[in-house]
This record gives sequence, C-alpha cells and structure tokens, in this order.
Amino acid sequence: MPKNARLSSLADLADAKLCPRLVIKVGSALLVDKEGPRRAWLTDLVAEIAQAKKRGQDVIVVSSGAIALGARKLKLDKGGRGSLADAQAAAAVGQIALSGLWAELLGAHGLTAAQLLLTLEDLEDRRRYLNATATLTRLLDAGAVPVINENDSVATQEIRFGDNDRLAARVAQAARADAVLLLSDVDGLYDRHPSERGAQLLPVVTGVTDEIRAMASPVSGSGMGSGGMISKLQAAEIAELAGIALAIGNGTKDKPIARVIEQGIATLFLPRASRARSAARKAWLGGRLRLKGTLVVDAGAVRALGEGASLLAAGITAVEGQFQRGDAVAIKAQDGMVIAHGLCEYDAGECASLLGRQSAEHAAILGYAPRPAIVHRDQLVMV
Ligand code: GLU
Repeated sequence: MPKNARLSSLADLADAKLCPRLVIKVGSALLVDKEGPRRAWLTDLVAEIAQAKKRGQDVIVVSSGAIALGARKLKLDKGGRGSLADAQAAAAVGQIALSGLWAELLGAHGLTAAQLLLTLEDLEDRRRYLNATATLTRLLDAGAVPVINENDSVATQEIRFGDNDRLAARVAQAARADAVLLLSDVDGLYDRHPSERGAQLLPVVTGVTDEIRAMASPVSGSGMGSGGMISKLQAAEIAELAGIALAIGNGTKDKPIARVIEQGIATLFLPRASRARSAARKAWLGGRLRLKGTLVVDAGAVRALGEGASLLAAGITAVEGQFQRGDAVAIKAQDGMVIAHGLCEYDAGECASLLGRQSAEHAAILGYAPRPAIVHRDQLVMV
C-alpha cells in the first residue's frame, strides 16, 4: 500500500490500515422506541463493533438516546424536548441507563466501555480540546471503547451542540480518527427529499457546497433526535476540513455497518485537507463551530489567499452575519465553498462599508486610520 494511501471508498471503512480509528454515531431513534431501549438491535450493532475491534480498528461510539430514554422514565411529553429544563432532566436520568446498556453489551464481547460526557466548550477551547484528545488517546491505547454523548444536563442553549452529528465530527478530530459513520434512519443524502419521485442517493460527495446543502432537509425523520440532514452536512463539513472521511448510513436495517461497508448503501463524504500533524492546530481552528459571520470573496482574493496573502477589502463581495472585531468568521468563495476561517479585524458594519473598496479609500470611509487588512494572514487558516 502506498505510504500516503487514503480512504476513498465505503469498503475502506473496514480496512484497519486505511481506517485504524473509526467513530460511529448512533441516533436516538435507533436506540429507543416507545417500549424503551432497543436492546436486541443494540446487541447486533455491538457485535458488529466487536468485529471491527477484532479487525484491529479503534472504535469510538457517539451515542444519543439519553433524552429519549430519560423522558420515558420521567413521563415528560415531547420526548423530553419540550423545554431545555426537560431535556436537561431527561438526559440526567437517561444517561445512566444508556451507558449501563453500552457497558453491559460491550462487556459481553470482552470489551470495556468508557463514558465521556462533553460540552461544546470542551472542544472549542484549545486547552480543554487537547485534554479530551489525551484522554481519548489513552483510553484507545488501553483497548477501551469510549462511549460519548453531549453533557446535556449542564449544557445551556447557547453553548451546546444540540445534535450528536457535529459532536461526532469534533470528537473524530480530537481523537485523530480516520472516519466517522453516522447511523441514522436514512440511507444517506438524496438529491432531493427522499419521498419525492426519482430521488437518487448520492454515493460520494466531494465538497459540501451550497448545491449539496440545498438537498438537505432540516428535520429528523423520527422526530426523536435533533439531527436531520442539515446537522449531518455540518458534521460532514467539519470532517472534510479536518481530513476525515464521513459516511451517512441507515441504522434501521439489519447489520447496518456491513450494509454500508459491504453493500455500499450510504453516502461517503471525502476528506479534503491534508492530515499532516503540523496541521492539527489549523484543523481545530478550521473546525470551529462558532463562527460569527461570513465574508464572501471574489476569485482574485481566493487566489491571493491561496498564495498566503492577507484578505483585503477590495476582494470582498458580501458580508453576512453580525460579528465584532476579533470574532472568527468564515471566508467563502463565490460558489459557496468555505475556503478559510479567520479572525476579523473589523466588525460586520465596518466590513460592509469597506467591501470592494481599495485600501487608499478606507481612511475616508472609516474616519480613522485603517488596519492593513480585513483578515491578516497570521490570523487566517485555509480550510
Ligand atoms: N445528546 C442527545 C441525547 O443523548 C441527542 C442529541 C441528538 O439527537 O443528536 O439524547
């Protein structure tokens, strides 16, 4: 195998050389139904996870279902998602049952489960992110199977992932995984709503563009999870930027992992960025979720940024979102592709007044001495 061989097909997800570390995300609707936990289904899935471990792969599970399980026990309506307080209480109750179940079923294969409950801030703060990386690495080296969920009981509205799709992608980054498999209740991404006639499953996606985003439906099919295709595409974007492959497959079928890997029924999002270790910090910056706005730039600016230049106002064609000076923003090309993340030297209003204008005009527009760039190259990461 060539040294720089890369994962490029669904079958590669089962290749311990191309994919030594795999994150598997399991949605709420797969784990819980009206009767409670779907134990038989989970028993089969765990058997597939045990096979992956036997093949020599590290497996990390990102498991939803705490809110759904807890809501049943506490008899909360709307599946525990009627209010943040309900979700927090439900998660606190459900998480015990959920991790107990994983520990028991993995244990039956001689595997040790390890629970990690993470918040958004744990992965957005660089120091805490590195702590999470260290813990995950140690657990995997010790042969355990980390079972991860969001710490829903303490997460508040503004500082939560809210869906485990993006959590799974960020965990994959932290764990330096090679691929993520999102198991859901759909076969993958269709070119239009799957219920429409003629809808086609996309086997491979290279780059999450506006065209791809337009194909996504925001609602979770089951109404039980908070995902839906939009959060899956956001997860795919994070993974793609970090050089990690991501597949969306249907967990409602028998042997769902084999169905994805052997029958190839799924959508595979191919990674884009290089995975050099030196790029780890850039990947973390590039994968930041809390971007406050967007600067859309012309082709000349795309070229200049690619050559290492700072972003100047002359190359900006549109400003989106509300952000302050120093906030992280996305820089997008005209086709909607995010090409960079950076820390902006101006707030959104100033950017809007400067866009398309030459540097010589800035002082007159702003009424004060301008800064040399809108985003300085030292504060900019190509993604
Ligand atoms: N963390 C939530 C739970 O355990 C699930 C979030 C999601 O639906 O993606 O219930």
